[in-house]
Amino acid sequence: MEETIEKLREKKKVLCAVLIVLAVCLLGLAIFLSLPSDRSTEKGTSAASGVEGIYKTLEVHFLDVGQGDAALLICGDESMLIDAGSNESVDYLKRYLDGHGVTKLKYVVGSHYDSDHVGGIDEVLNAYEVETLIVPDQERDTKSYRDVMKSFDKAGEVVVAKVGDTYTFGDATITVFAPARNDYEESNDFSIVLRIDHGSDSFLFTGDAQEESEKEMLAAGMDVHVDVLKVSHHGSKKSSIRQFLEAANPRFAVISCAKNNDYGHPHAPVLRTLRRLGAQLYRTDDQGTVVCYSDGSNIVWNREPAQSWQQGEKPETDYGTDALAG
Ligand SMILES: [Zn+2]
Repeated sequence: MEETIEKLREKKKVLCAVLIVLAVCLLGLAIFLSLPSDRSTEKGTSAASGVEGIYKTLEVHFLDVGQGDAALLICGDESMLIDAGSNESVDYLKRYLDGHGVTKLKYVVGSHYDSDHVGGIDEVLNAYEVETLIVPDQERDTKSYRDVMKSFDKAGEVVVAKVGDTYTFGDATITVFAPARNDYEESNDFSIVLRIDHGSDSFLFTGDAQEESEKEMLAAGMDVHVDVLKVSHHGSKKSSIRQFLEAANPRFAVISCAKNNDYGHPHAPVLRTLRRLGAQLYRTDDQGTVVCYSDGSNIVWNREPAQSWQQGEKPETDYGTDALAG
C-alpha cells in the first residue's frame, strides 16, 4: 500500500514538474509575442512585405487606341481612366469599359488637350457616371478642347490638377507631379503627370510631357523612380530625355502608339535608352492592349514583353516633314 502511495506521490511530482515547465514555456511565448517587435525589418525586409496580401489588386489596362493614350485602372470596386484616346477609337474604348463592367468612373484624367488624349472624353462623360474630371490649366483653340469644355457639366466635378495634389484610388495614392506652370510654349508640356503608389509598386503616367516639364520635375526633386513607366509622348524623342529615363529607371516601360504612325513613334533614341536600362518593353502597336496586375508588392503582366525594339516606321505616304508636329 505504502509503495502505491509512494508511486502516486512520484507521479504527482513528475506531473507538477511537467506543468511548471509548460507554464514557463507559455509565459516565455507570451512575453515573446507581446514584445514590440521589429523582427520583420531585421533581415532588411521592407515594411511592405509585412503587410503582403492586404492590398486589393490594382489592374492597369493600357488600351490599344491606335495613335493615342488611354489607360483603364481598376482597384476594388473603383475605376478610373487616364486619357480616352481619339474620336476614332472611342467605340473600342467604350466596348472595353462595358466588357469590364464599368458603369462609373471615380476619376477621368485628360492629360492635356490634344485630340489623341482627350478626343474620346466627351463620349465617356456622356456614357458613364464620372465623379471627378481632372484637367490641366491649359486653354486651346481646338475642337477637342471645345468638345471637352462643352461636356464639363456631365462630370460630378471638374478639378484643375496642381502639383502636389493627391487623390485616393482604391488602395493606391495618386500624386500630381506636373504641370508646374500654365505658360508652356509646347502644348505637350501641359501634360498632367501622375505618380501612382500601390503598396511598394509604383507607376508613372506622363501624358506627352516633353523636355521642359521633365527637367522641371527632376529639378524639383520629384521621385520619378518607378516600376512601370508609361513612356511619354508615344516614345517620341522630343520627350524622355536621357536624365529623366535614367531617374525613372523603370522595370517595365509601356509605349502606346499605332503601327506605321505619321511620326515614326517610337523613336530609336528612347528605345535605346530603355533597353540599356534593362527595362522590359510593352508596346500597343505590336501587342495590342496590355494589362498588368499589382498586389502591392508584385506586378505581373498578361503577356510576355515585346520582342521588338524596332523604332516606328512612317507610312508610305509622304506627308512632308513640316506636316509632322510630332
Ligand atoms: Zn499624344
